[in-house]
Amino acid sequence: MTQADFRARARRLRDARRLIVKVGSALLVDARSGRLNRAWLETLADDLARAARRGQQLIVVSSGAIALGRRHLGLIGARLRLEESQAAAAVGQIRLARAWQEILEERGLAVAQVLLTLEDTEERQRYLNARATLNTLLALGAVPVINENDTVATAEIRYGDNDRLAARVAQMASAECLVLLSDIDGLYSADPGRDPAAQFIPEVRAVDAAVEAMASGPSSGVGSGGMTTKVAAARIAIGAGCSLCIASGRRPHPLRAVEDGERCTWFVAGSTPRATRKQWIAGTLKPRGRLAIDAGAAAALGRGKSLLPAGVTRVSGRFERGDTVSVIADGREVARGLAAYSSEDAARIAGRRSQEIEALLGYRGREELIHRDDLVMLPGTAG
Ligand code: GLU
Repeated sequence: MTQADFRARARRLRDARRLIVKVGSALLVDARSGRLNRAWLETLADDLARAARRGQQLIVVSSGAIALGRRHLGLIGARLRLEESQAAAAVGQIRLARAWQEILEERGLAVAQVLLTLEDTEERQRYLNARATLNTLLALGAVPVINENDTVATAEIRYGDNDRLAARVAQMASAECLVLLSDIDGLYSADPGRDPAAQFIPEVRAVDAAVEAMASGPSSGVGSGGMTTKVAAARIAIGAGCSLCIASGRRPHPLRAVEDGERCTWFVAGSTPRATRKQWIAGTLKPRGRLAIDAGAAAALGRGKSLLPAGVTRVSGRFERGDTVSVIADGREVARGLAAYSSEDAARIAGRRSQEIEALLGYRGREELIHRDDLVMLPGTAG
């Protein structure tokens, strides 16, 4: 595969409306001194600023808190116990966030720190809250800089690696492209450090057992991820319609290098984030509730609009915000979607205008009962 081929493939990075870039500890922090590789980070920030000028929305998933913090606590050398890494993360995260803030703000980008735990991405309500916050930040032009909340995450229920965390963030944000910047330039058929016959794999379309076997091997010294977690991340990402690229960060301007056709491994999504999300909603086995709607609302849904409370005539079942509900018109299920309100609140605002929501519920929620992004028309119905 030639440089021109790689450059052509990198359109996935250039064209993504939402782009996630994950940066590993081994790149951010110098292994010997334990200090931030600031000069390198500046070059990455230049690339991010360039993407922002092209109109792309950006999220950074940054490791490095533990690696940066340990030196300040005198935790050098040996492997850290969990409590020690959590303490190191607490010390390192402030420094990490400040570095990102300084470096991105110099380039005109507002920076937001978001610390997530595994539960925040796995538990429905919290997932939706985190998702809404990310959407708001992105819409306002800020760059969320995300890390795992290592200080409070407990051993059994933490990611421990930011590769998979980044993939879940990509899914949460419906991003089209995720770049994992690493100390290796991509996936090989075997560990290239040990097997001289290892072949570079430029493109993967499905993460199967053969691909997983290629990834088994040791991880780098500083971060937690190895090729195994990267391939696991790729599975999550492409399943969510997000193409993922493993690329080397061992050079200045690592994103520009990918765009210019340096080799990297692409895991190619067969679908879009929007389509996979809608399939997932349509495939819910047991919707928790039913919203009966009037003819006007049914027609609006057919034209691709959101479902407003005004068009709802009856609410049944017990559901929480974020649960899947069936939308019923004329006694027939015409659509499914994620409710923006619980059944109790939905019943209170059904048939009322969106402007009345705050007065009825005492808080200002969404205007829609189901937003069109969270709504899928079922086969055999219009839309
Ligand atoms: N969250 C960890 C940190 O900031 C890094 C996890 C990883 O290496 O992927 O230090």
